Amino acid sequence: MRTSRRTFMITTAGVATGLALSRLAFADAAKVSEVDSTALALGYKIDATKVDKTKYAKYGAGQACSNCTFYQGKSIDAFAPCPMFGGKQVAGKGWCSAYSKKA
Ligand code: SF4
Repeated sequence: MRTSRRTFMITTAGVATGLALSRLAFADAAKVSEVDSTALALGYKIDATKVDKTKYAKYGAGQACSNCTFYQGKSIDAFAPCPMFGGKQVAGKGWCSAYSKKA
């Protein structure tokens, strides 16, 4: 009885750890890279201050994913999904040319 309970506890801890690690790996994999084809097409930058202002003159200081209509997270979230990238996660401090100020 005691052995099976101990086995159960060890197995449960192992499964929980595995799930947590796979969720972390998935979250990283789902982040948009600046070199993704869509990111290049939209001029996406993880850091909005690095936007090429000569190429994207519509960019204005203070604009960031976290205050864009399309950002599907809270404004304080470091990353959140964006429909422009098929639901992949973009940086709250990022920016792309599809930016639309949240009303
Ligand atoms: Fe960020 Fe908005 Fe562009 Fe999505 S559409 S990447 S939230 S600026």
